[in-house]
Amino acid sequence: SELYGIDRWGKGYFTINEKGNISICPNGSNNKSHDLMELLDELESRKLKFPLLIRFDDILEDCLKNLHKAFEKAINDYQYQGKYQGVFPIKCNQQRHVVEELITCGSKWNFGLEAGSKPELLIALSILEDPKALLICNGYKDQRYIETAILARQLGRQPIVVIEQANDVELIIKSSNLLGASPLIGIRAKLSSQSSGRWSSSIGDKSKFGLSIPEILKAIKRLKEANLLNELKLLHFHLGSQINDIGVLKDALQEAGQIYAELINLGAPMGYLDVGGGLGIDYDGSQTASIASTNYSLQNYANDVVATIKECCESKKIPLPTLITESGRAIASHFSILIFNILGKNSLPSDIPKENEKECLSVRNLRETLVHINSLELKQEKDLAKLQEAWNDSLKFKADALAAFRLGYIDLVERAKAEQLTWACAKTIVNQLPKNILLPKELKKLSESLAVTYYANLSVFRSAPDTWAIDQVFPIMPIHRLSKEPKKLGHFADLTCDSDGKLDQFIDNGKIKNLLPLHEFNQNEKYLIGLFLGGAYQEVMGNLHNLFGSTNAVHIRFTENGNYKVEHVIRGNTKSNVLEYLEHDPEILLERLRKSSELAIQGGHLKIHDAQKLIEHVEASLRQSTYLQS
Ligand code: PLP
Repeated sequence: SELYGIDRWGKGYFTINEKGNISICPNGSNNKSHDLMELLDELESRKLKFPLLIRFDDILEDCLKNLHKAFEKAINDYQYQGKYQGVFPIKCNQQRHVVEELITCGSKWNFGLEAGSKPELLIALSILEDPKALLICNGYKDQRYIETAILARQLGRQPIVVIEQANDVELIIKSSNLLGASPLIGIRAKLSSQSSGRWSSSIGDKSKFGLSIPEILKAIKRLKEANLLNELKLLHFHLGSQINDIGVLKDALQEAGQIYAELINLGAPMGYLDVGGGLGIDYDGSQTASIASTNYSLQNYANDVVATIKECCESKKIPLPTLITESGRAIASHFSILIFNILGKNSLPSDIPKENEKECLSVRNLRETLVHINSLELKQEKDLAKLQEAWNDSLKFKADALAAFRLGYIDLVERAKAEQLTWACAKTIVNQLPKNILLPKELKKLSESLAVTYYANLSVFRSAPDTWAIDQVFPIMPIHRLSKEPKKLGHFADLTCDSDGKLDQFIDNGKIKNLLPLHEFNQNEKYLIGLFLGGAYQEVMGNLHNLFGSTNAVHIRFTENGNYKVEHVIRGNTKSNVLEYLEHDPEILLERLRKSSELAIQGGHLKIHDAQKLIEHVEASLRQSTYLQS
């Protein structure tokens, strides 16, 4: 488990069992664990093929519970005379089953939703029926958006329309006049505190959303004139996703606390302070302010929110607000694992070619270099220089062979031998490198260049787009064979015809490395890899590059008797689905094929039997997944 750091990033949900398989521990404790490989075998028997997204609803519920527990504890510890009430930002994972699950599990806390667009508002309206739960209406708005929110309030829901752009104020006034009813109103402030991390541009003067202080004052004036100030209940800010440094949050909370108090002084009733999302995930397990980690725990976060707002409001002698978070990533990351199978591998040809009499000089030189490398005895660190020298020689002889080939002096067979022998030298050198010493740069690069490419049955553009778009690292590791030492170093290439379609950034205790220790792959053996912590933002941001569609997905719930239930199966896109998405009609496609096969039959190039076979293949293929079948 040290090798892949699973204990550091897994939060107790994932461990390695005595069989060398990953076990799932649905509530973060090892005493009720379930073998992932056994589960996968049974899912495969249900014809659920890879790549497969498994969503563990118990983990989702547990993360939600932990968030509430942390705030309950902080509220108790600091004797905060107010409460906490969370909402889930739908954009983080809009999948119906995910949103429904969260609302069902969260009903005991009146857990609500945050919508950032009109379609998300519709999801919230249909799923969120609890009259006490909050529906935070963020994002760009038009009059229809606001009118819908006003009418939803009359339906008995609690939508709070957050003014995010100065223009929203006039839209709210207009809609309220038109309907003779008003919405609950919030206002998003552009804080001046500095943020850090990947999404730090979400705050500050130049941020896309929120009102500057002069704009807030103007908005208050207009709401007052329109008799709507009484509905201003909420102050909102959002520091950007994945806050990596707790110091940033503290500054922002102090600033927001002061603004909140000022709004009350200006006559707004207020009552809610919404600290947005941003609660981070420790992807790399380092617990530092690195780009893929956080230097705080969930409890630190809750404590800081509660303590800072309490201090601020008490010193101003104003009632303590209900605290709202819009955490998405922190709730939805851990519960899903993307499992993909390896289809093949590609490593450099380093077997030693047979010798014959008429070999060219470069090939003979390379053979001698290989013998020399094998004879070297490495006793001390300074002996590394001998390996370096031998490698320099190999590169020189290989370059000689290539030059000779370009000029037509040697044939393809000789060139192939030169390449094989060069890589045989490299492999022998790497095998001789002493472990646990600092290697010179060139020799380090050499061991990397011998890495194996594992071909993965997935599209990173579809299933892990952030790895491509923003260099996000997710924990990735084999999910079985973990009692055997992985002797290879490799990376993954996906199915797309795009050299960006790869996974080659892996976590290494706070650092990023380009190669992952992996096991030997044999074509007739199953080798399954898991991409962890990808439950937030990935699927929906994924695209159809090369027309790889959604993967199969299942929702699993573990039962009291140690068994499990497949709660939902969401079949991945078929080829027909993705073709239709781009206006290709599968029927027309088949008809065109049929017509051209008739012509070929008439021309005598194709037998009727073969034409039929072709049509049947295509028909079946249209109904099947876009991924490869192993
Ligand atoms: N609220 C708002 C306004 C956001 O823009 C976001 C995402 O950036 C979130 C909440 C969710 O953030 P996170 O998933 O980091 O908790």
